[in-house]
Amino acid sequence: MRFTLPTTSRYVLANATVPCVLAPGLAARDATGMAACDLWIDRGIVAAIVPHGEGLAGAADVVDLQAKLVLPRFVDSHTHIDKGQILPRTPAANGTHDAARATVGADREARWSRDDVQARMDFNLRCAFAHGTGTLRTHIDSIGKQTGISWPVFNEMREAWRGRITLQAAALFPLDIAIDDPEQFAATVATVVRYGGVIGGLTFVGRAPDAKLDAALDKVFAAAVAHSLDVDFHADESASPDARTLERIALAALRAKFRGRTLVGHCCSLALHSDADRARVIDRVGEAGLAIVALPMCNMYLQDRTPGRTPRWRGVAPLHELDTAGVPALIASDNTRDPFYAYGDMDMLEVLREGTRILHLDHSDRPWLGLLGPVPAAVMRVAGAGTIRVGGPADLVITGARTLNELLSRPWSDRAVLIGGTALVRALPDYAELDALMA
Ligand SMILES: [Zn+2]
Repeated sequence: MRFTLPTTSRYVLANATVPCVLAPGLAARDATGMAACDLWIDRGIVAAIVPHGEGLAGAADVVDLQAKLVLPRFVDSHTHIDKGQILPRTPAANGTHDAARATVGADREARWSRDDVQARMDFNLRCAFAHGTGTLRTHIDSIGKQTGISWPVFNEMREAWRGRITLQAAALFPLDIAIDDPEQFAATVATVVRYGGVIGGLTFVGRAPDAKLDAALDKVFAAAVAHSLDVDFHADESASPDARTLERIALAALRAKFRGRTLVGHCCSLALHSDADRARVIDRVGEAGLAIVALPMCNMYLQDRTPGRTPRWRGVAPLHELDTAGVPALIASDNTRDPFYAYGDMDMLEVLREGTRILHLDHSDRPWLGLLGPVPAAVMRVAGAGTIRVGGPADLVITGARTLNELLSRPWSDRAVLIGGTALVRALPDYAELDALMA
């Protein structure tokens, strides 16, 4: 941390650079969309945001931020905290999607007890919290006996973390289950309803879209309509020309006249469609009101991997084209230290940094910085999360960076995270804590 906060509960963070896209109502002051502001903090709340210098003479405790960027706490819309950190005990993982599915499946069967899931979820959440995340959605593998183990643990975590991280969960299962095993599907829906979750599913399992997929999608949307659930799919995480389920999802949402929120993750193959096909699918996605989340670190890790051959493409969904069409286009963490992505630390600043490089979000006049907070928060319906606003909590992240370029050039491991105006004593968990679970 590069500044000292006063010990009083009323103080001013003066000469802050605030990105206007992260502070609704704040008018841009310069060509880069930044405003030079003073943030008046009063007992944990942002009491006022005023142009830098206005009324500052009468203020008692003033911290001069010397034009450092002030960010809201982050919103991470797509994670797997039930799966994270298992990499050391899955030696057969080799960076391919097939091996990831096989090794995770075997590990889940053998090792995902209540205690194991609880410990790893908590570890992942402590990483996210220390890095400045305040709102997070996780997918939960909801297959067979695992549904009854992981969801109650998630529910406990959500309570334990209330006030620190706002948590959501989405059920993840191969969508064929909705047709092949109606009993299991009904039990999964009941679990999601019971724990206030989001219904989801994995739509591409290696074959071209068919009538069975459409029937399964209809079942998911029917359940969502019946129980007022939002929907969050994993789709087309593949370079296969058969990976074309996104359009079927859009059509199913339209058939169901679905009015809830639908987020679709991955959609890697959309980037490889012909221009005409991609434009048509994006039109349908827009018409159906879907939002798309790319997982840049995981996608680039898994896609186009063949031993001995250098990858030729980046694996990510065409976010620019989606954004141009008005589709909410997000980025998020996805997996963390598991066979689907061997690295990561639940850090949205890393996701933004890597996402900017992988997806070319730089040299753009689009307000991509909104991906850190307000854009995913709207899709997740967490009002006000990921924004700096008058009357909102002084939940802030401050680094030494003054500009976007400075922000994206370093990891900022020494960033400050403020919760209700008080600096968090940031403590990333020690990997040694996991040793017993990895034996
Ligand atoms: Zn995922």
